Amino acid sequence: MPLHEYMAVDPAKGCRLCRRPFEHLDRRPGRFLKSCPRCGTPLRRLPSAARVTQGRTTLDRRARQAGFHKLRRVGKGTYQKEY
Ligand SMILES: [Zn+2]
Repeated sequence: MPLHEYMAVDPAKGCRLCRRPFEHLDRRPGRFLKSCPRCGTPLRRLPSAARVTQGRTTLDRRARQAGFHKLRRVGKGTYQKEY
């Protein structure tokens, strides 16, 4: 089932749920939430790709801060150190 992220079109009018981006599992493909299930404020759908990128960046930064190194696989059995 597709997981989408939504947020109130006008966050000032939203409730605690939709003032910030929240994830909603769409039970039927192609049918999206148009309004908040709690307060009925109109919602907009956020592009999920942006979130994935963001999450990875944060994860990388945290890993680096924790002293981990990240290796990127460049070939069969060959790894390149990213940091
Ligand atoms: Zn709401």
